[in-house]
Amino acid sequence: MLSILSQREDFNSCRDDYGLMNCVECGSCTFVCPAKRNIVQYIKNAKGVIRAEQAAAKAKAAAEQAKKGAAAK
Ligand code: SF4
Repeated sequence: MLSILSQREDFNSCRDDYGLMNCVECGSCTFVCPAKRNIVQYIKNAKGVIRAEQAAAKAKAAAEQAKKGAAAK
């Protein structure tokens, strides 16, 4: 399911509904997949997008905090 959602770029469902970040990237699912889907690659891609979004949100919050600090002086 994760690979399908990732392929559809529904990354928030991957994270919120299917435990995306719990995947340890062991590759077992790819190994046993009868359709030979590269599931881990889709999972890694989804994790990358989520981490980039989290980093952007963190940077935005830090910038806003700095802006508030500068305005208070
Ligand atoms: S790579 Fe596949 S089998 Fe391994 S933890 Fe992630 S989802 Fe589970």
